[in-house]
Amino acid sequence: MAFDTSSLHQYAAVRVKRSRIDGFGVFADEVIAAGRHIGDLTGEAITVAEARRRAQDRQRLMLVELSPSRAIDCSRSDDAMRFTNHSCAANARIEVEDGEVRFFALREIAIGEEITVSYGLTHHEGRLECRCGADNCQRRL
Ligand SMILES: [Zn+2]
Repeated sequence: MAFDTSSLHQYAAVRVKRSRIDGFGVFADEVIAAGRHIGDLTGEAITVAEARRRAQDRQRLMLVELSPSRAIDCSRSDDAMRFTNHSCAANARIEVEDGEVRFFALREIAIGEEITVSYGLTHHEGRLECRCGADNCQRRL
C-alpha cells in the first residue's frame, strides 16, 4: 500500500511579493485546501508591556498577544508568514502553540491569492486605515 507522505507536515508553497493591501504580502503558490496548515512563525516571547513599548518605536511589526500579559514579537523572524497582511475578510487564521504562531486556511485558497488573517485587536488602536478592500471592511485597524 502506498502512502504519499510527502505532504505530511509540509508547509504550503507561498511566495512573498508586493501587496496592494500593504507593503509585502504572502501569496499562495499552489491551491491550499481548507483547514490546511500553511506555515509557522517563530517569535520572541515578551511581555505585553514590552510589546506596547516596541509598537511605539516601529511602524511595521508583527506582534501577537497570547494573553493579557504575554506576547510574541515576530518582527525579526525570517519566515515568509511574517508578511501576512490583515483583511477584514481573512482566508486564514492563526493559532498560537508552544510559542509558535501557526497559520491555517479557513477556506480553499487559489493560486496567486493573497493569504490574509484578521489581526483582531492591534496595537494601532484604530489609528491605521485598513485597505483590505473587502466588502465588509471595517476601515480601521
Ligand atoms: Zn479591511
